[in-house]
Amino acid sequence: MPPMRVALSISGSDPTGGAGIQADLQVFRTLGVHGAGVITALTIQDTEKVHQVLPVFPSVVLDQLRVLLADIRPHVVKIGMLATDDVARNVEIGLRGLDAVGKPAVPIVVDPVLAASDGTPLLERRAWGTLERLIGRSTLVTPNLAEVEALTGCDVSTREGVEAAGCALVSNLGAQAALVKGGHAEGPSDDLLVIREGGSSTLQWLEGPRIETGRVHGTGCALASAIAASLALGDDLVPAVEHGRRFVRKAIQAAEQAGKLARFLAYF
Ligand code: PLP
Repeated sequence: MPPMRVALSISGSDPTGGAGIQADLQVFRTLGVHGAGVITALTIQDTEKVHQVLPVFPSVVLDQLRVLLADIRPHVVKIGMLATDDVARNVEIGLRGLDAVGKPAVPIVVDPVLAASDGTPLLERRAWGTLERLIGRSTLVTPNLAEVEALTGCDVSTREGVEAAGCALVSNLGAQAALVKGGHAEGPSDDLLVIREGGSSTLQWLEGPRIETGRVHGTGCALASAIAASLALGDDLVPAVEHGRRFVRKAIQAAEQAGKLARFLAYF
C-alpha cells in the first residue's frame, strides 16, 4: 500500500452535500486521498438557493488551522468559500503553519468562490484584496468567467479577453497557474490554462464539448478538489488539470436529479 496522502479543504459547508466541503471530501475519498477539512462558514441552502450564510468566528477558523497544521502536514490545500474578509485573513495567517524550513512547499489550489449560482454572495466585497493575496501564493487558481472578470476587470466576452484575464491572474496577482473555466460561456465550454514559466506565461486552450444536463450543483468545487487530489498524489500540474477535467466531465455525464432543482455529480 502506498503511504496515505492528505488533502486539506478550507471551505464552506453545504448541507446538501452537492457543493462545499462535503463535496470536496467526497471527491478526495473517491480519488484515494484522505480528506481533512476546516470549515469557514455554514450555509443554509437547498438545491434551489442559498437561504443564509453564517461565517465561522474568524479566530475559530485560525485555531482549527493552527492546531491541525501543527500536527498534520497535508500534501495539498484546496481553498473554497471564505465568506468574509476576517475569515479570509485568518486563513492567510493560519497557512503560515505550512511554512517549514527544508520541506517541499505544499501546493495550494484556490477556487475563488464569489457567489452561488443563484447570485447569493459567498464572499463579501471587501475581502477581495485578501483573496487576491491568497491567489498570489497559489499553485493554481480556478475561476469561472464571472469570477475572473470581477477580479481582473477584463472583458471576457472574447477569447482574447479571457486570455488577458488569465494572464493577469498569473502576472499581476502572482498565481503560478490559472485555469479559467468556460462552463458558463455560450457554445463549447473550453477552459484556458495559463502557466507562468520564467518571466513569461504559456497559454493552452483545453477543449470541452458542452454537456447538456441542466443545472448541476457543485461542479466548481469538484473540479478544484479533483485537481488538488491529483497534486496530492504527486502528479504534475498539467496532468493533474487534465485528470480533474476528465473526472468532472464523467461526473456531469452521470449526474442524477437531487431535490427540486439541481442535479448532483455522480462520482466513481
Ligand atoms: N455553497 C458552498 C459552501 C460553496 O462552496 C459553493 C460553491 O463553491 C456553493 C454553495 C455554490 O454552488 P453552486 O455554484 O453550484 O450554486
